[in-house]
Amino acid sequence: MDGTQIKPTAVNLVLLGPPGAGKGTQARKLEEAFDLKQLSTGDLLRAAVAAGTEAGLAAKAVMERGDLVSDDIVIAILRDRLSDDDCAGGVIFDGFPRTTVQAGALDELMSETGQTITAAISLEVDDAAMIERISGRYTCSACGEGYHDSFKTPAKEGVCDNCGGSDFKRRADDNAETVAQRLKAYHADTAPLIAYYADQQVLQGVDAMQPIDAVENDLKAIVQTALA
Ligand code: ADP
Ligand code: ADP
Ligand code: ZN
Repeated sequence: MDGTQIKPTAVNLVLLGPPGAGKGTQARKLEEAFDLKQLSTGDLLRAAVAAGTEAGLAAKAVMERGDLVSDDIVIAILRDRLSDDDCAGGVIFDGFPRTTVQAGALDELMSETGQTITAAISLEVDDAAMIERISGRYTCSACGEGYHDSFKTPAKEGVCDNCGGSDFKRRADDNAETVAQRLKAYHADTAPLIAYYADQQVLQGVDAMQPIDAVENDLKAIVQTALA
């Protein structure tokens, strides 16, 4: 390697893809394997809604409709979380950025701390599969582990593989009507980010129609190359 090249201090990944592509599922796996921190703006927003904060109150109805929450709110929530110590070793952005305004804000936030986006990985899937993935999705209430009625069931029925919990929940916005709106928002506002990151020469595509384990292997190979 060229001795003058400065290595970035951390690996920072963006996971791009429509609702149900597998961003959350894969982010959890990468978090464990590479000691990175998963930052899901969907999770942060749902926590704000549950806590009844000002941002949460503003976001609630928008999320229920399947529209995108305003850039200002999302960027403020993300900036806050990103400044926590546990993010310094590298982050997996899951569901952020979702607009070119957010992508620009992220570039700025990264450069403030001398970091960059190492790779933006597009999980490539077709819309028809999304409806099926989202309508069968549920998570463990205790630890957040994700499951699916057909594609990922717990080894022992009704018991979380990860923590042994037995209480599971489904998201209010995982219904057919809202999903259609979320897919529309994806194509209108988020899909252009594929070209944004291609221009920055950090875009990688992964066939996310493959089974979960195969997608995981492809992603790990990308991260390993980035770390090398
Ligand atoms: P996202 O975070 O992109 O919205 P999730 O990771 O929550 O998507 O995945 C949506 C649903 O599809 C979950 O129930 C998950 O278990 C399931 N799933 C994820 N990846 C795959 C895959 N490659 N094949 C089949 N089902 C998958
Ligand atoms: P999924 O991956 O299944 O689309 P998320 O949990 O990422 O679900 O997002 C759920 C909802 O939260 C979105 O439909 C949107 O209303 C809101 N949201 C999450 N992240 C963002 C973001 N970066 N910008 C705007 N809205 C967001
Ligand atoms: Zn659990």
